[in-house]
Amino acid sequence: MGECIFCKIIAGEIPAARLIETDKVVSFLDINPVNPGHALIVPKRHVTSFLDLHQNELHVLMFIARRVAAAVAEATESPAFNILQNNGRAAGQIIDHVHIHVIPRRPDDGFSLGWRQLSYGEGELEPLRKAITARL
Ligand code: AMP
Ligand code: ZN
Repeated sequence: MGECIFCKIIAGEIPAARLIETDKVVSFLDINPVNPGHALIVPKRHVTSFLDLHQNELHVLMFIARRVAAAVAEATESPAFNILQNNGRAAGQIIDHVHIHVIPRRPDDGFSLGWRQLSYGEGELEPLRKAITARL
């Protein structure tokens, strides 16, 4: 936590292009944007994973993400946007302070998520569905 860049931004120890702040959440522009206007929404409490967030933090985080997404899309005249949230190194998380990305998108912006689409093998889907449901 002591070396966390986002905690330092929240504490005002290092600069950031701030967009909005509440008692629970702060939003600022990503320093290396996928597209101009790429914004981050961050809880003030230092936790690493989406799973660590309390219900009230989740509520505020998503509510502010919605407001930021609308403002970013309008300000950058983008007809589309992605909301992304990475948890763990394998998922591309670099900063260990949970955050939501809002990325404005245009049809010709040259960015691709590289989404792939596998298929389930015979008899694979139902055991997995049951295993997940049993944990909910
Ligand atoms: P992630 O890969 O989901 O952990 O994303 C971390 C994001 O934080 C990256 O998109 C970085 O460009 C961004 N970032 C890192 N340092 C800063 C900073 N000082 N101010 C704003 N954004 C930052
Ligand atoms: Zn932190």
